[in-house]
Amino acid sequence: MDSLSEKVEEESTEKSTEERIEKIVPPSTDVAVPASLLRPIATRPKFLMGTGPTNLSQRVSEAICKPLMGLYMDETHQIMDEIKDGLKYVFQTKNPVTFCASCSGNGGIEAVLFNLIEEGDVVLFGVAGDFGRRAVHIGELLGADVRKLEAKLGTVLQYEQIRGYMEAHRPKILYLVHGDSSTGVLQSLEGMGDLCRRYNCLLVVDAVSTAGAVKLLVDEWKIDAAFTASQKVLGAPAGLAPITLGPRALQKINSRKTPVKSYYWDAMLLSSKWGCQGESRVKHHTVSLTVLYGLRESLAEICEQGLESFRNRHSENAQRLQKGLQTIGLELFVENPADRLPTITAVRIPYGVNWNKVSDYLLERYSLELSSGFGRTEDVIFRIGLLNSNATYQKVDLVLRALCEALRVTCNYIPPTAAVYY
Ligand SMILES: *Cc1c(COP(=O)(O)O)cnc(C)c1O
Repeated sequence: MDSLSEKVEEESTEKSTEERIEKIVPPSTDVAVPASLLRPIATRPKFLMGTGPTNLSQRVSEAICKPLMGLYMDETHQIMDEIKDGLKYVFQTKNPVTFCASCSGNGGIEAVLFNLIEEGDVVLFGVAGDFGRRAVHIGELLGADVRKLEAKLGTVLQYEQIRGYMEAHRPKILYLVHGDSSTGVLQSLEGMGDLCRRYNCLLVVDAVSTAGAVKLLVDEWKIDAAFTASQKVLGAPAGLAPITLGPRALQKINSRKTPVKSYYWDAMLLSSKWGCQGESRVKHHTVSLTVLYGLRESLAEICEQGLESFRNRHSENAQRLQKGLQTIGLELFVENPADRLPTITAVRIPYGVNWNKVSDYLLERYSLELSSGFGRTEDVIFRIGLLNSNATYQKVDLVLRALCEALRVTCNYIPPTAAVYY
């Protein structure tokens, strides 16, 4: 800045302002118009059957094209209120403090932990996959006294193990991932609520790949905080992370000795913005109206279908998929059927199969996206998602047929049994 003004002063006697500025700051036309942006946007319909985002239903697709409205208009507030009602239904909770943070699921993890953790708090993380590990990392960034209990990959934690750790470590928070989509495991939450009450500890649940599609009763199971994301089971575009906070979580937040170390994640501000703290709503940040419309409609669809039937559709199709995969000789990564997540199925890559080739083939021939493994399972598994509008018999059969063909054509993999899906 200094050298700039000196330079201007030095030359001010002989040159016009325009000339001087031009000499210092190159004219903006030096950066040419990018040709890429003069072409039409390139998108093509795809079958999104990885770990999310999932395909939008017709109704949700139409909703996100609706005209934007102002953030503080009555109609916008009404849509937000309807979303809150839908979320309470999906979470099965009467918590008045049920709202959304503007972010994906990872933001949901941070929003909840930033509010509930204070430096030095003992926090016990149940780790049954890489999303558990990610939460541990965030806990460490927040200065928590992190304890972790880790299950072998592809398995979950047992009640007795968790109880033993609770007894030994006396944490203030027990953090569990209900469905760790990195390995496709479903962590049972049975008895956890009572256990946490007994040890005067909060129960926090990552329900990003479960809420709605897997039984999750926030109030009945005494879960103090839970969160999910708009683009997976809920079937909306990414951009909103629904969060519910029960009375014990609020009490913890209200009795913090130090302020929440974030403006954006501050639950009191966020929930006030969402009208959870009485009539007046603080002006906090700009929510995407587009995503609000999408989530409002996707929740409406779940409400119309009914939670139980919506859940059954996911579990029936998951069974059809998992049985089909086994029929074509593939091995499911999670051995115990009771520990398998219905929304995300992890499959071992068979010996001799190059997953990248299979995946490229599926994309090229079928416009079908499946997900690879990630973290420790990168070259070990691939993952198939049956989320919301993709949890149908037709989509399951499409995946099985396409996968069979891709394995055969790219890697000469021949299913050991009758090739029913050819
Ligand atoms: C997908 C997922 C997340 C992260 O969500 P993003 O929306 O990708 O940020 C967190 N936890 C679990 C269990 C998930 O499946």
